[in-house]
Amino acid sequence: MAILKPVARAVLKRKEYKNSISKYMSGEVDWSDKSLKLVKDTIRAILRVEQKDICPYCQRIIIPERRNVNEHIEHFLDKSKDKYKKFAFTASNLILACQGCNVEKGIRDLIGKGLPAPAYLTRQTHFLWPHPYFDDMSQCIQKLPGPVYSPIVGSGRETQSTRLIKELKLNDIQSIESRYGRLVARRTQLMRILRKLAIKNDERSRAKMALFIIEMDKVDQDLS
Ligand SMILES: [Zn+2]
Repeated sequence: MAILKPVARAVLKRKEYKNSISKYMSGEVDWSDKSLKLVKDTIRAILRVEQKDICPYCQRIIIPERRNVNEHIEHFLDKSKDKYKKFAFTASNLILACQGCNVEKGIRDLIGKGLPAPAYLTRQTHFLWPHPYFDDMSQCIQKLPGPVYSPIVGSGRETQSTRLIKELKLNDIQSIESRYGRLVARRTQLMRILRKLAIKNDERSRAKMALFIIEMDKVDQDLS
């Protein structure tokens, strides 16, 4: 995974979203308001492409069952904190994370409790974790089969990477095992479905097979 480009920036400047964004910023509506649905859907769609469906924190494919139930857009600096609300629609603060990482991250403050918000988000900002828009996560954190994670020595982000791994519990034995177990179970299930569809082998089954094969591919990548 390379450093993410703030691709949402151009979209967020579109006239059609201006009104709903400013309503949110002024506190007139909250994040879950229907008027924000369109802009959020657009952000999600372009982030999915830019991230190649990968969660920048754990560097794993966000397979459908690991997507957030409501596919929440994750804010690197938590928008629910007043001091970071100004970054709610800042392109370099918007990420799609897998459900596991999203839940573990929660409302963690990635600048530091009690510290003021930075004026802008830049590479020089002191974040407590490596930042997917300013750091190449795959050059900061090594993911070995399991997956097992370790900070990459020489990246200059060792402290932040160690902290991310610990706080997201990426090496928590239980979560590795349950993650692994879930993937193996899904793989078995997919095999069974594919076998049935192959026996049927009509046009509809073949179309369905294509989708399941793509998912199987993702599951395999995750297991490796
Ligand atoms: Zn993740």
